[in-house]
Amino acid sequence: SKDEGRDCFHFFTEQMQQNAERTANLHAALKLALDSHAFELYFQPIICLTTNKIIRAEVLLRWEHEGKFVSPEEFIPLAESSGLIVDLGHWVRQESMSFLLTLQETSPDIGLSINVSMYEFWSHSLQDNLINSILNIALNLTAEPFPFDMLTIEITESLLMKQHNHLIASLQKLRNMGIKIAVDDFGTGYSSLSYLSHFPIDQIKIDKSFIQNSDHSIKQQALVKAITTLSHALDLNVVAEGVESVEELEFVRTAEIEAVQGFYFYRPMTKASLLRLLD
Ligand code: C2E
Ligand code: CA
Ligand code: CA
Ligand code: CA
Repeated sequence: SKDEGRDCFHFFTEQMQQNAERTANLHAALKLALDSHAFELYFQPIICLTTNKIIRAEVLLRWEHEGKFVSPEEFIPLAESSGLIVDLGHWVRQESMSFLLTLQETSPDIGLSINVSMYEFWSHSLQDNLINSILNIALNLTAEPFPFDMLTIEITESLLMKQHNHLIASLQKLRNMGIKIAVDDFGTGYSSLSYLSHFPIDQIKIDKSFIQNSDHSIKQQALVKAITTLSHALDLNVVAEGVESVEELEFVRTAEIEAVQGFYFYRPMTKASLLRLLD
């Protein structure tokens, strides 16, 4: 049994070393990827349940590395730990805002929703950087006023834990430009709904873990309905993520949630596919 213990230990260290190596390799590859344009943006439509029309699309980053897609769940944390997320985020915003102007020509009612990492809100100067990067991109793209009102920024709930005045001021600046603020993955963090009333936000996105199999759980349904009712009382729009089945869609309708996103409607798609879909 002593030997068994040693084997077990041996196994774990080997596994850990393999993980560390993969992380180090991905780190280096990420840097190269940004320079060599190996990233691509995909778009997942968001549908209004009163009109059944597409109102927006969420921008989702894709990285093809050695012939395979690496999940953003894996590479975003790496980009954050190396600080590369600032340049990567800038690239995402540059490409998204440029594409928004293209969309405006044929589909002026369709907005884009962009994920911004918590890391970019970490300090005062990072927050100022973020706002300046958005303003500069807009200035470089067009001499006309930029349609900021068609942009949503998605931040995660955990960001709201650090209730600093500067964060509130930064979010307010973005809103004053016309940008909408959404709280992503709502329900997975620790913030309460009363917390939300302190922040300048427009929308919450209920995390897919609350929507999936919601048709099987009365308690889950009660929770989603309560979140939605309170959000509406706070004048916030509600989006349900991860709707995969007609049963989940029916539930989302009865909860009076106004917009949905999920594989039941569309999977994330390329720019060309989105343009074709909207045509
Ligand atoms: P997220 O912001 O919560 O994005 C939604 C994720 O749910 C996407 O995964 C999307 O493909 C997936 N999804 C949408 N509908 C369904 C559904 O019906 N069922 C299921 N099972 N999944 C669904 P994806 O594209 O793999 O992105 C994962 C996460 O990576 C995102 O979660 C976001 O946190 C992060 N991410 C993606 N793009 C960016 C980016 O440009 N910047 C930053 N900072 N983070 C990003
Ligand atoms: Ca998101
Ligand atoms: Ca989400
Ligand atoms: Ca997520």
